[in-house]
Amino acid sequence: MKTVHQTELEEIDLRVAKKELRHILKRALNDQWPTSEDLKTLFTAQGREIPLLGQVADIIRERQTGSVITYVVNRNINFTNVCTNNCLFCAYSVSPNSEKGYFDVSFDTLRKKIEETQPYQITEVCVQGGIHPKITFETYLEILQNLKEIDPTLHIHAFSPQEITHAASSLEEDVEDVLREFKRNGLDSIPGTAAEILDDNIRKRICPQKISSADWIHIIELCHQLRIPTTATILFGHIENHLHWIHHLSLLRKIQEKTRGFTEFIPLPFIAENTQLKRKFSSHIYKLTSLDYVKFYAVSRLYLGEAFKNIQTSWVKLGFPLAEITLTTGCNDFGGTLFEENITRSAGGSFGQFTTPKTFQSSIQELQRIACERGTLYDLLC
Ligand code: SF4
Repeated sequence: MKTVHQTELEEIDLRVAKKELRHILKRALNDQWPTSEDLKTLFTAQGREIPLLGQVADIIRERQTGSVITYVVNRNINFTNVCTNNCLFCAYSVSPNSEKGYFDVSFDTLRKKIEETQPYQITEVCVQGGIHPKITFETYLEILQNLKEIDPTLHIHAFSPQEITHAASSLEEDVEDVLREFKRNGLDSIPGTAAEILDDNIRKRICPQKISSADWIHIIELCHQLRIPTTATILFGHIENHLHWIHHLSLLRKIQEKTRGFTEFIPLPFIAENTQLKRKFSSHIYKLTSLDYVKFYAVSRLYLGEAFKNIQTSWVKLGFPLAEITLTTGCNDFGGTLFEENITRSAGGSFGQFTTPKTFQSSIQELQRIACERGTLYDLLC
């Protein structure tokens, strides 16, 4: 009798792929994960090879996560847009003396923001802000304590490795002590943002004041050691190239193989419109097509799949139609309802800042898959 894998292999016509790519896909279907070397070939996929990559990634995804597509009912809180860093891809932040700056972490404001979400019963609050010169360790601590007081059942997913570094420098304390203290005061998990591209030459050009790649990795590994789960991200589609993607994905896989502390991988396509990066490097910026996005998500599943069961699409950056396609080419998670989305919108993104659980559910049903609400750590709530 044929195994399911053999049947799948026979049903997929791999002939449209060039020889080396065919070989990698065949091995992937036989449960042999691509190596970092194979990534080079995977990223060279062109034209009809890309839907094929998506088809194989979808089979691998199905083996790992079944027919379920998850989403989280959450709320973003971006408590300040004031930032002393000047990341060229960021159209959200303003300088400390700008009239457009805001900074509000008062108990009443936080409570109002949580109350606004009541009809939807959020399970997670995702809290991030700019690097405001007046924010100290105590400010972050107060945010955690206030949120826990407002609703102790909420999962607090907060503060990027950049913000953790800022908190530690305001105290002249070790990052590790800061993390322990935050955890004691209600921090449940950390967004793996500020990773951008884990290559210091690219970082020097797009976010010169940000922590180095080594610092990002150090903080993430510390979090995992302290049993604070994090997400993993990449900002792609600006001035980097395939070699940077390969390096970045290889680093993430290595960390995950060591710590198992990442909950998911979230590729974040760069939205250029209102950014300095576009103004400064417009001729170097990738013009990614829909097929390029499909390729990136499919390759992520094929290469990271064993280490990362969960790969999240981004409806905010891609829009619903394209996000839905990526859910058939490697992704298994739709992301969050958000309620408030400022970062992508400021950069020119036009896909909104809030979506309802119902919208997720009908979209998932149209894909003939099972919709399931999840918690931040992928505990299924359906
Ligand atoms: S990406 Fe973050 S650190 Fe960089 S300028 Fe924007 S708010 Fe500041």
